Amino acid sequence: MKIATILGARPQFIKASVVSSALKSAGIYEKIIHTGQHFDSLMSDIFFQDLGLPEPDYHLNIHSLNHGAMTGRMMEKLEEFLLQVKPDWICVYGDTNSTLAGALVAAKLCIPLAHIEAGLRSFNRQMPEEVNRVVTDHLSQLLFAPTPLAVECLQKEGIVEGVHLVGDVMMDSILTYQAKAKQTSEILVKYQLQPNKFYLATIHRPSNTDDSHRLSSILDNLTKLDFSVVFPIHPRTQAKIEKMGLSHYLNTNSILAIPPVSYLDMLMLESACKAVITDSGGIQKEAYILGRPCLTLRNETEWKETVEVGWNQLVQPETLCQAIANFTPPSEAPTLYGEGKASAKIAEIIGSCT
Ligand code: UDP
Repeated sequence: MKIATILGARPQFIKASVVSSALKSAGIYEKIIHTGQHFDSLMSDIFFQDLGLPEPDYHLNIHSLNHGAMTGRMMEKLEEFLLQVKPDWICVYGDTNSTLAGALVAAKLCIPLAHIEAGLRSFNRQMPEEVNRVVTDHLSQLLFAPTPLAVECLQKEGIVEGVHLVGDVMMDSILTYQAKAKQTSEILVKYQLQPNKFYLATIHRPSNTDDSHRLSSILDNLTKLDFSVVFPIHPRTQAKIEKMGLSHYLNTNSILAIPPVSYLDMLMLESACKAVITDSGGIQKEAYILGRPCLTLRNETEWKETVEVGWNQLVQPETLCQAIANFTPPSEAPTLYGEGKASAKIAEIIGSCT
């Protein structure tokens, strides 16, 4: 069996690192195609180096374009390569333009498609990722859902065949790399960070970065918290901050702006911080798994379980300070994302589809 995996963005490299290793153990031959969506060393190369993900067999080098142009060019190149590779299955992750391009090409070439992290819904179609998720799920023959809620969302859209509740591959990643992070990461020492004495913030969704009033309000409110904020800045957020003339917020004692960090460093920051402030999908989950309270700067989330169990709160920039001051998550944190066996289950199911 030959599978072609299409990757392009940071969270996909992290998820694929554990699944690729499980596919290899199951004797499944994998070709990796990197679309280039995330391209610089801190957003791409570092994950391949640290996480033992095999080097991509093909690199399409497509990035820094608007959604339509990016997806279209990816489709053109992917079709070319997939016609050569002739895989039995195509595998895509999550909800990026690389996911969508891979799904559309799979459908056009009539190659069965496996979607890892299927069934997530924010129910906000203004969010580019939501459209990518819906289309990809409707084109997939195998849908690997991380949670019962994801299975339910698929059912409501009439998708029941090929759906497998396997748990979340990010749980597998954390369990796989947590010990290595503790042994090798020097990030806490490098920035002289004391456990529970800093907040960790990440912001990159267009709904937060593309409006200067909203972005300046977020930065302004980050400066008002009771502890300083470590802020590994996504390149597009950095570019927006510079373009909007908001860089002065980064030169205060309250915000420690640092370049994007490796996954191992991120696990350490997430584990040691007092709370996480984010608009990331993956980081909401990681905060929960690592037992840190999370404040999500969004109107809705596709990771609703974390809110329902009381460990994640949706907040607005203006309510952040108040929300943090009053936030006491419950002592219980039920298992929401599986036992860390999602990758093995995925490999087994794909392997059984001859
Ligand atoms: N991440 C990282 N370094 C960073 C910021 C994030 O390794 O500087 C990891 C994080 O731990 C998580 C993933 O990247 O596993 C989340 O990616 P991102 O927030 O870019 O995307 P989203 O999950 O929102 O799609």
